[in-house]
Amino acid sequence: MVPKVPNRYADAIQSPPKKKPLTRLRLQLHTKVLLALVLGIAAGMAAAHLGWSEQVSIYVKPIGQAFLQLINMVVVPLVFASLVTGVAGTNDVRKLGRIGGKTILYYLSTTAVAVTFGLVLANSLQPGAGLTQADQERLLAASPSATVDEVLTRDAPGLSETLLNTIPRNPIRALADGNMLQVIFFALLLGIALTVIPREKAGPVAAFFDGFNEAMIALIHLIMKLAPYGVFALSASIIGQFGVGILVLLLKYAIVVILGLALYTITAFSLIVRCFSNLGIREFFRGIRPAQLIAFSTSSSSATLPVTMECAHNNLGVPNEIASLTLPLGATINMDGTAIYQGVSALFIAQVYNMDLGLAQQLTIILTATLASIGTAGVPAAGIMMLAIVLRSVGVPLEGIALIFGIERILDMCRTVVNVTGDACCAVVVSATEKKGP
Ligand code: ASP
Repeated sequence: MVPKVPNRYADAIQSPPKKKPLTRLRLQLHTKVLLALVLGIAAGMAAAHLGWSEQVSIYVKPIGQAFLQLINMVVVPLVFASLVTGVAGTNDVRKLGRIGGKTILYYLSTTAVAVTFGLVLANSLQPGAGLTQADQERLLAASPSATVDEVLTRDAPGLSETLLNTIPRNPIRALADGNMLQVIFFALLLGIALTVIPREKAGPVAAFFDGFNEAMIALIHLIMKLAPYGVFALSASIIGQFGVGILVLLLKYAIVVILGLALYTITAFSLIVRCFSNLGIREFFRGIRPAQLIAFSTSSSSATLPVTMECAHNNLGVPNEIASLTLPLGATINMDGTAIYQGVSALFIAQVYNMDLGLAQQLTIILTATLASIGTAGVPAAGIMMLAIVLRSVGVPLEGIALIFGIERILDMCRTVVNVTGDACCAVVVSATEKKGP
């Protein structure tokens, strides 16, 4: 039996306020979060202008950090409990395999399409052309070399290593480390085992996880009340530290990445939602908005996961058994926004170094970026780490990464929104094809 999930969070973000008191303006939560985001960006810009970056990082950043830690706190227990509950409730292992298969196929194919999209855009708009030698030197001097070194020394795990790594040697450690693929793997098997053993033995365990799952959802509901403060603090502190000068120098590149993200979101997701589900396009985007706002301010699909699950379940009508499998998998292996970013960035760097990448090399980029996305967690800056792997595969100088470091964070914020939207889109499509949802 699929557990019923309380609708309280949905009420908080969706339903109009009952009666507006005359003296106090009551805003819906997602409007407050949006407002907090805009105010945070403005405050951050003002702080950067006044030279208060340090004060912002001392006094404002911890508030954002506390909010981030609170939602991170819920990720592992929520994913584990909801997946066990969802799988135990399915009672049909074959169906589960079908859902998993569709999900992985969807994720890998959309990621490949997204890298291609980025490559096509960068080939036609040539963002790297026209950057002078002096500009290059300025950019290289501005990037923090310690962080760049960290990126450059990362090695790509092989495919078999990535697949083997999904089997936890110790499930408790997997939970403690928050290793999402391992947690998913163990939760799936535990859920399946519960459907195999006698009902009277499985019942109490399934009921425990069901109750635990509901408690986690109630916790998210509480934490989300703090979202406006957290989002304000996160955006103010990020923008406060980030100079606008670099942005101007890299404006063309940044515009191509953001244009790619926006075009892909508008065309691909709308098309997929329209063709494969009964959900209206506006309804889809309205339903996922709270998760997009959190994704923008945290730059992390994994940290946004509890909110994405809530939105998919309560606003988009995706049943728990599907949301609990597709979304945690998506937070780890599906990164459409990151894929677009990698396509554009790889070509941008090649163009800056006057390298001509042929068709074969661009196909290698598509393959490497798609495979690299599997084992990479949805955390801030994961995309730029993966970019090193992609560049290495086609022999583009890794030092080029230093050129784009200055605006990494702002692009990370934007691409995470697309990553999270892609995960929700998959959940909607899979539930529609299973005739279970929108
Ligand atoms: N921050 C992104 C995410 O969490 C990954 C990336 O760095 O591109 O989805």
